[in-house]
Amino acid sequence: MLLITGIVLVPAGLLMLWVAWASGRDRLQRNGTVGVRTRLTMECDAAWFAAQRAAASATAIGGAGALLGGIGAIVMAMVEASRPGLSFPFAMATWTLLALGAAGWSIAWALAGVGRGARAAEALCAQRPGCV
Ligand SMILES: [Zn+2]
Repeated sequence: MLLITGIVLVPAGLLMLWVAWASGRDRLQRNGTVGVRTRLTMECDAAWFAAQRAAASATAIGGAGALLGGIGAIVMAMVEASRPGLSFPFAMATWTLLALGAAGWSIAWALAGVGRGARAAEALCAQRPGCV
């Protein structure tokens, strides 16, 4: 279970770090899957890029947490495999802390990024005549 958690969290963290990197450099084009997607950002190019830039640092923090949690889960899976005497409650506690901690951390920061991005988009469009 720890190994599977690690195998899920590591690529998820790497994906978030890549999105953060691309978002901070206006390299993330508007798409239907990742990024800050609100009514404003989906209709306005300036708002889209402003929102992704505003979200980038929070996305990076979330991705780093998922990556570290995933590496921790893989390390713990190897420790448990090498020491079969470890108790089941200990294994469950480790898994719960790592999986829920890393997942909760990355989701919370992703949502914080969306909030920052949405506010940046609103502020920008409000100042631009002709913007939605
Ligand atoms: Zn706009």
